[in-house]
Amino acid sequence: MSECTHDCSTCSSNCASREKPQSLQIPANELSEVKHVIGVVSGKGGVGKSLVTSMLAVLLQREGYKVGILDADITGPSIPKAFGLHNVEVYGDDNGMIPPSSKTGIDMMSVNLLLGNDETKPVIWRGAMIAGTVQQFWKDTIWNVDVLLVDCPPGTGDVPLTVFQSLPLDGVVIVSSPQDLVSMIVSKAANMANMMNVPVLGLVENMSYVKCPDCGKEIKVFGESHIEEVAEKFGYDLLARIPMDSKLSALVDRGMIELMENDYLDRAAAAVIEKLNLTPNA
Ligand code: ADP
Repeated sequence: MSECTHDCSTCSSNCASREKPQSLQIPANELSEVKHVIGVVSGKGGVGKSLVTSMLAVLLQREGYKVGILDADITGPSIPKAFGLHNVEVYGDDNGMIPPSSKTGIDMMSVNLLLGNDETKPVIWRGAMIAGTVQQFWKDTIWNVDVLLVDCPPGTGDVPLTVFQSLPLDGVVIVSSPQDLVSMIVSKAANMANMMNVPVLGLVENMSYVKCPDCGKEIKVFGESHIEEVAEKFGYDLLARIPMDSKLSALVDRGMIELMENDYLDRAAAAVIEKLNLTPNA
């Protein structure tokens, strides 16, 4: 039978190659040792995907895991900023790049670290270049971590899909906000994850509410959330509902997310540890 030329996982025809989907994964750097790779995905930009990635990294690091963050959100790279990493030199040689570390030892690679000191310069690249850069961050960086969190490009289009296909993801966390068309977004992300055979570790709703500083009442700025129904419909774990909290944005703006003191993602971190059966090196 002749080889088909399309993506067999999305069609219903009986192609010979359907049984053995071709892996599009890129090999890691020969000097890397990465035990687990977790993708953090969202339907669109600005919902707090990078914040959730950073907070999860901090919590896992506090639990004793060696953590890295691959900032695959090439056009909106905000990971180094949250950790206060500016103007750092990225060292490397023919073997690969050494990811710079945060104050508490979280390794990271981001286009912001490679753009010199001009963080304000917009990254206006075509999809193929964005996907190629992410692939380089995977194979040209020497990662030695228990957990690598990937802050994925937003959306479910071509670029996030390429990233999804290139990296050996053990699971994904889906981040949404109440004003998203959450059912549609979760369904698209779920399709993408199913296509790649990657388990969905759970859902995180961000900007769920604001707590009134006087009476403690939860004010639903974006209206009623549908995240619980959606979680139930898809059989996913609702890992967290994070409020809009000015302390969080202030920590990000000052590059001090590692000093955060809240329990918003404690259950999410515990669920990730349990679901992936993580064991720290220490
Ligand atoms: P994304 O990665 O989805 O594009 P970010 O994580 O960069 O979104 O968040 C966008 C902006 O909103 C950032 O300035 C971030 O600090 C702020 N932000 C996100 N979530 C919260 C929250 N729960 N409370 C306060 N500020 C938030």
